[in-house]
Amino acid sequence: MPFSTLGLRAELCRAVSAHGYDAPTPIQQQAIPVILAGKDVLAAAQTGTGKTAGFALPMLQRLAASEQPARPKSVRALVLTPTRELAAQVGQNVKDYGSGLRLRSAVIFGGVGINPQTNALARGLDVLVATPGRLLDHLQQGNCVLDRVEILVLDEADRMLDMGFIRDIRRILALLPKQRQTLLFSATFSSDIRSLASQFLHQPVEIDVSPRNSTVSQITQVAYAVDKGRKRELLSWLVGSNNWQQVLVFARTKHGANRLAEQLDSDGLKSAAIHGNKSQGARTRALEGFKNGDVRVLVATDIAARGIDIDQLPLVVNHDLPDVPHDYVHRIGRTGRAGRDGQAISLVAPDEIGLLRSIERLVNQRISPQVLPGYEPSPHAVQAQPDSRPPMRGRPQQGAGRRPGGPSRSAPRGGRG
Ligand code: AMP
Repeated sequence: MPFSTLGLRAELCRAVSAHGYDAPTPIQQQAIPVILAGKDVLAAAQTGTGKTAGFALPMLQRLAASEQPARPKSVRALVLTPTRELAAQVGQNVKDYGSGLRLRSAVIFGGVGINPQTNALARGLDVLVATPGRLLDHLQQGNCVLDRVEILVLDEADRMLDMGFIRDIRRILALLPKQRQTLLFSATFSSDIRSLASQFLHQPVEIDVSPRNSTVSQITQVAYAVDKGRKRELLSWLVGSNNWQQVLVFARTKHGANRLAEQLDSDGLKSAAIHGNKSQGARTRALEGFKNGDVRVLVATDIAARGIDIDQLPLVVNHDLPDVPHDYVHRIGRTGRAGRDGQAISLVAPDEIGLLRSIERLVNQRISPQVLPGYEPSPHAVQAQPDSRPPMRGRPQQGAGRRPGGPSRSAPRGGRG
């Protein structure tokens, strides 16, 4: 199915083919016609499904269809995102996809100077992509008004709730006109998301391409049982012996991310860390290095990793399992994007087995930890044996039998491991 059959105008179809997209992804197929028809949408779609184009393309088309230019200080479409990285990414996509249309867009987020943002707002914007906190600063200073917003997008709304933005969101939404189109994207339909939707969406069309039946099934998930104190050593060995060249590693804390990046670096694997304590400049540099191949291992915390947009990221490693099972789905969504294969590897210490079991339940898939010779967890710790429960409904066990062949650096494997 080509993009043109979805009702998108030629400028937008040209922009997507310039990006090398041949066909719309499932979320795009379902969301684009509904958004073009002006309906509210409640969509379960995580990063990696092509959701950004799914809302940005029809939003741009609707904005371009009306003759009304944005008035000074006013905004026609507002996209709220939880993080600066995601805001920057969505803002870039809006610019790219809209390059053939005469629309003005800007991105505003905290941690950078406010004046250029104020100037952009002063002219009036067709699309404003913003994080809630900095937008409220601008609203308080009278730099922009939201009473003419035609389209509101809440992107990664579940994440915004997790990050405690609910009050900010309510304050912002109170300033929007009642008559508008609202699009809410979330990784899942939790009860909190449903309650948010019932308050702010009007008879939304529900679209569900959540990972249970899409992205996650394309990702090979493997777990290795290992003592906490030997995780870094095992990680270095896995990267080296498999000759992995671009590995995104998740750590639970900022401090842990820094330390791990330093240790991997001293193991001879060029590494960088990104997390909330790093300046925007440092994060951008680390990300650029990772994209262009200077940095082989990027260690990130969950929040900092949101919105990282890298095509064909082959591999994600969980050095630590996340405390919240949903974060696992977000993390591994960094690989296997837009229909490509990916691999997710988790290093599981004995005290993390409970977390792994919660994750298995969420993704409805068994991920039994394998024990690698030379890295066996110490016997007094809880043993990570595959448990004896029957396999879960309708889901083949993936990753079983994939072992890197023992802890010897002498047998490197192919780049995708
Ligand atoms: P998103 O879920 O919006 O973060 O998009 C995930 C990735 O898929 C991004 O790198 C997009 O550039 C890419 N992408 C989006 N739509 C398509 C498509 N129709 N075909 C191929 N790649 C796409």
